[in-house]
Amino acid sequence: MAKLADARDSKSRAPEGVCGFDSHPRHPMTTALRILGHLLRGQTRLWLLYTNVNWRTCEGCLAWHGRIVARPDDFPPHNGCPHEARPFPVWKLGEYRELSARMADRAGAELRRRALLREARSLLPTDPERALALLDEAGAVNVYLPEVEALARDPSLSDSALRARVRAVLLSRWKAKFAHDRYERQPELARTEQERWGVRRIEELLA
Ligand SMILES: [Zn+2]
Repeated sequence: MAKLADARDSKSRAPEGVCGFDSHPRHPMTTALRILGHLLRGQTRLWLLYTNVNWRTCEGCLAWHGRIVARPDDFPPHNGCPHEARPFPVWKLGEYRELSARMADRAGAELRRRALLREARSLLPTDPERALALLDEAGAVNVYLPEVEALARDPSLSDSALRARVRAVLLSRWKAKFAHDRYERQPELARTEQERWGVRRIEELLA
């Protein structure tokens, strides 16, 4: 949680030219004044920054997901994490600030998921019930197979009863992930195959 708070703080200390997150994105007067301010400075385009919100992207880059900046190269250069700046016209700032807030929420959820997973792993040997509850909570945000691979190697899971319960939690969250609407844009066959492949993999890793 501390990391997330840090990310929010760094937003409020945004460098010159960055649209701050200090006021409510739906406030029409604020947005209108901001648009006017940009236009008066001759700025007709702004950029929305994207990174991949998944287990692989570093926390520093996730903190930039959804930020609105005045220059496309305002994203700090980082080796390894893919990112992109997409332009939009200044007068669409209102709708882009709403999008920006939703994107920041998603990045925040990914950071919380990681914290929950770390805590779950640290509690596996001493408080397995709590660890299972936290795994379930993390799994509600997302389940990533490379992390399941790492979890399967955890010495605490040499206990076969605990291993079976962890497997059940992860399988249920994995299946729920594919029922979620953001996967519905994928062709049905690809989605089903990906889901089945993951089910087999989780069963095999935590057998
Ligand atoms: Zn990065």
